[in-house]
Amino acid sequence: MTKNILFLAHLDESGNELPKAALEALGAAADLSKQLNVPLSIGLIGAEVQAAADALANAGAQRLLAVSGAEFAQPRFASDLLAAEALCRAASPDLILAPATSRFLRALPGLAHRLNGRVDTHITSVQLVDGAVCATRWFYRQRIEGVFQRDARPWILLLDSGCHEAYHGPSGKANIEEIAVTLPADARRTTIAGIRAPKSDSQTIRPDAAMLFVAGAGWTKKQSDGKTHPEQAESLILDFLRVSGASLGGSKSLVDQSGENQAVLGFMTHLNQVGQTGATPRHPKGLSTCCHGEEPHVVGWRFINERRAINLDPNCGWARGKADVLYVADAFEVMAKVNSLLKKPQA
Ligand SMILES: Cc1cc2nc3c(=O)[nH]c(=O)nc-3n(C[C@H](O)[C@H](O)[C@H](O)COP(=O)(O)OP(=O)(O)OC[C@H]3O[C@@H](n4cnc5c(N)ncnc54)[C@H](O)[C@@H]3O)c2cc1C
Repeated sequence: MTKNILFLAHLDESGNELPKAALEALGAAADLSKQLNVPLSIGLIGAEVQAAADALANAGAQRLLAVSGAEFAQPRFASDLLAAEALCRAASPDLILAPATSRFLRALPGLAHRLNGRVDTHITSVQLVDGAVCATRWFYRQRIEGVFQRDARPWILLLDSGCHEAYHGPSGKANIEEIAVTLPADARRTTIAGIRAPKSDSQTIRPDAAMLFVAGAGWTKKQSDGKTHPEQAESLILDFLRVSGASLGGSKSLVDQSGENQAVLGFMTHLNQVGQTGATPRHPKGLSTCCHGEEPHVVGWRFINERRAINLDPNCGWARGKADVLYVADAFEVMAKVNSLLKKPQA
């Protein structure tokens, strides 16, 4: 039986608002509380939460709780855990919905342990089946979808982004119940001195982009003139990313080349790899270029709604039912044309 739902969130890196994934998890929590007709509480963690709380003032929550202060601005397992625990003890929920951000993916399994509850990560939906709350997630590299329930409570569900419509509502004046948490010295030991990220992923991996652009090993292979053209490939791909705002993915063959001293695209790392041993991003559209479309690669396209590919080979994997549209053409030529068309209106 579910009697009380808590939606738990932390503020984003700007420190002013909730990450998009949190608004999506709130959308799911609000829907579930309506379906079950049980009260919803909101628990926020951050340095200064009033503005974010005001934005949620009309989300239908009975209580809006917060643990706030400069010490809760940055992700840190020990302080996030204590803050989340204090919010849960104040709200006494049996179901806790939270976004699967890297911050919560680290801290909330610890929360489950402290509350003697259970946690499940990478949840893609929460629904009622015969009146019981069930969660959905993928197994075996997105090949099997499982729907399951648990008896243990509290049950913490970390929802993946891109799976539920984000909460939208008019803002108002939120009455925040501040929960005081005093951090012991050993919960303050870790401090963030700065962030060092690979140059490429910060600029090219854009989970919220409308399109995923995937480059394959063909970009670095000998072309019809018998030569490779990696510089031209780099500039065509980067130009396209700039004008389209697309996120960049790569095939395994392409990202592996950097470790094999072959001609490489300098901005491509293993973080870009899409597929069975890579990522499974969610985007409305995807365009694959110079990539063959083999099964282990296409597994990563599970959540791309509309798939297009450009390949010289009319018998490539995409042609066998894995793409909605295949352009049998030279990707160098096609992308040069596409870029010039996309640049035109801006000029
Ligand atoms: C256990 C396992 C796990 C794997 N996991 C993954 C994974 O997670 N992700 C992944 O990507 N792969 C994965 N693979 C590898 C996968 O099977 C393929 O080997 C790989 O995806 C091939 O990459 P590619 O299509 O870029 O390269 P290639 O197979 O070399 O294909 C290059 C393509 O480029 C085309 N081309 C060349 N020039 C042009 C041009 N000018 N215009 C248009 N097309 C052109 C060619 O026609 C060719 O089809 C896995 C394999 C195994 C065994």
